[in-house]
Amino acid sequence: MAKTFLVTGGAGFIGSAVVRELIAATPHRVVTVDKLTYAGNLASLEAVAASPRHRFVRADIGDMTAMQRVLADHRPDVVMHLAAESHVDRSIDGPSAFIRTNVVGTSVLLEAVRGYWKGLQEHEPGKAAVFRFHQVSTDEVYGDLEGPEGLFHESSAYAPSSPYAASKASADHLVRAWGRTYGLPTLITHCSNNYGPYQFPEKLIPLMLLNAREGRPLPLYGDGQQVRDWLHVEDHARALLRVALEGRVGETYHIGGGSERSNLEVVETLCDLLQARIPSARSCRDLITFVDDRPGHDRRYAIDAGKIARELGWVPRETLESGLRSTVDWYLANEAWWRGMREGRYRGERLGLADAVG
Ligand code: NAD
Repeated sequence: MAKTFLVTGGAGFIGSAVVRELIAATPHRVVTVDKLTYAGNLASLEAVAASPRHRFVRADIGDMTAMQRVLADHRPDVVMHLAAESHVDRSIDGPSAFIRTNVVGTSVLLEAVRGYWKGLQEHEPGKAAVFRFHQVSTDEVYGDLEGPEGLFHESSAYAPSSPYAASKASADHLVRAWGRTYGLPTLITHCSNNYGPYQFPEKLIPLMLLNAREGRPLPLYGDGQQVRDWLHVEDHARALLRVALEGRVGETYHIGGGSERSNLEVVETLCDLLQARIPSARSCRDLITFVDDRPGHDRRYAIDAGKIARELGWVPRETLESGLRSTVDWYLANEAWWRGMREGRYRGERLGLADAVG
């Protein structure tokens, strides 16, 4: 039966992939709620704009009245919560916005959802019984893995290193508490580093790709040996829907790409793929420049995604190589999507050196 999904942060990178997947591959209805910060972009939702099953509402998750109204108007069966300030470097320059949206905003959303869900329990117990609140979190809440071995498991202890990770950890704790204390039917997922189309060009892969295309330096933090597990955003979106629809209430699931690489390896692969597409580009690897490391930079994250595979049958379809190749092609073919951002909201300047207060 068709359900109604409310997706917060649906005009962002991962949220828009979730919304596109919901409209393209399921019969469900979607209400996208997004404040449209610098990271939100309605152009990422162009593919669903004409669908009668999609609605867009511009609102801040920290605005209780707006959240109560959107819940009353659209009466969702599932709330998928992705709205967040998401860039670690920006959290170092100005942590307050991260506390406001990721912590306080999540608490406001949870309270609005709790009121809505209580109303369902009183008047529509059948709808209340299938309602889900899905918190989309990150593996960064676990902090650093020491050495080349070991993985984060669903039971790993939280030890966030950056203001961003701490704010996401706080939000996860609130969601867990609303589940335990009020019985709100919650699910939490933690995923590894995402990449793919429609990613704001401040993040590693699009930044390096677009700089390389223009022959600009490719600034790698520290020695470039920080290891991340890379997950294609469309694999992530499919996993999120699987959890939202079939996950066990109160559980946590890890979502990973099974593709551990150092930042240097990722950028070198990107260079090779780009040069295969634009043979005239000057040697891309020569553009790699090592710059001051990010304060508090975690060395390695890696995630055990065995539980979601065993319980829900999800595994990624993309390898890092296939996913990076299609990502390079997408950015080369979609200049209209990123050109304005590169010339306006973010011009590639260094962020996150911890010399600002805010
Ligand atoms: P993003 O920055 O691309 O998108 C965030 C979206 O949230 C934007 O559209 C923005 O306008 C919106 N938003 C911000 N503040 C808001 C507010 N107060 N009210 C309503 N909307 C608001 O982020 P993303 O990379 O798509 O990440 C989405 C979620 O996934 C985040 O919760 C993030 O913590 C989590 N996550 C991301 C990654 C990753 O690799 N990108 C990895 C793990 C988890």
